[in-house]
Amino acid sequence: MIVLMRMGATPAQIDAVAQVIRDSGHEPLVLPGGDRLAVGIPDALGADERVRLESVLSRMDGVSLVTQTSRPYKLASVEFHPERTLVDVKGVTIGDGHFTVFGGPCSIESPEQLLESAKVVKASGATVLRGGAFKPRTSPYAFQGLQVDGLRIMKEVADEVGLVTISEVMSAEMASVVAEYVDILQIGARSMQNFPLLIEAGKIRKPVFLKRGPAATIDEFLLAAEYLLSNGNPNVILCERGVLPIDRSYTRNTLDLSAIPVLKEHTHLPVVADPSHGTGVARYVAPMAKAALAAGADGVMVEMHPNPKVALSDGSQALDSAAFTALMGELRGLAGYLGVAMD
Ligand code: PEP
Ligand code: MN
Repeated sequence: MIVLMRMGATPAQIDAVAQVIRDSGHEPLVLPGGDRLAVGIPDALGADERVRLESVLSRMDGVSLVTQTSRPYKLASVEFHPERTLVDVKGVTIGDGHFTVFGGPCSIESPEQLLESAKVVKASGATVLRGGAFKPRTSPYAFQGLQVDGLRIMKEVADEVGLVTISEVMSAEMASVVAEYVDILQIGARSMQNFPLLIEAGKIRKPVFLKRGPAATIDEFLLAAEYLLSNGNPNVILCERGVLPIDRSYTRNTLDLSAIPVLKEHTHLPVVADPSHGTGVARYVAPMAKAALAAGADGVMVEMHPNPKVALSDGSQALDSAAFTALMGELRGLAGYLGVAMD
């Protein structure tokens, strides 16, 4: 932590800051600067102490700014866990050096729709079938998903076709129910800070696919992951799915591609991109999926539908079967060029 003093701060004010730091059991480090001075705390601080000291110091006379030099997350950090986490789901490896494609419809609509989707996903070489059964819809009047019936369809179809499955869970109460039917629990963007859900999903040891909230900072995203990790679940996959755009007239969200190398630098967890929600427009999905692979993502989640025109949710961003298959071919070519394994 660094306490930047105001220009012209008096020696008494600087001493007072140093004394507060000393009183908390740390030796202050006075850092002289050109026109103003800073006081550093070189020790690692616990989360509660950091918050307490920040609030005490920032209101002291002569203090301009208090900044944190170390990151607030721990279990998610590369410093704490230098080996890259590989999440193994029924033989599908997600993480460093592997590129995993999660494909399927936004919503599970019927056994026929999901089976047709699953066959395309499987035939194209993708390994994880996605499909929402509990849908977080902006409007309460929009299709809410088939719920547990949808999960039953998911399980039947995946068993028949042979794919790993992922579906969203929206509440702590439903986490164990969804976990009975699917291999990976998805925590959606809107639920990224649903703390009871994070705690419950942490306790259930199924892999969790955590989507970044539309307005979440990287620290908030990794602290949400920290909830899962600190509750005992090491199998966490992060997903960048786009943040609030400046201009919604062209894309639904802004896929934050720079978050991919940033996350890969600061965390050991696998990082996946979702160019479907990231753009909201089917024709922009393939370019952004390839950009995500080039940026170092460990996979992409892509919405597809056998007939996007009649999709009950997110039809405008769904690839049809041919476009999905074509994208898989392009990703495979690019992965080969980059030396990344693609099952
Ligand atoms: C989804 O994957 O269909 C979904 C609702 O995603 P997000 O939580 O990113 O909006
Ligand atoms: Mn969707």
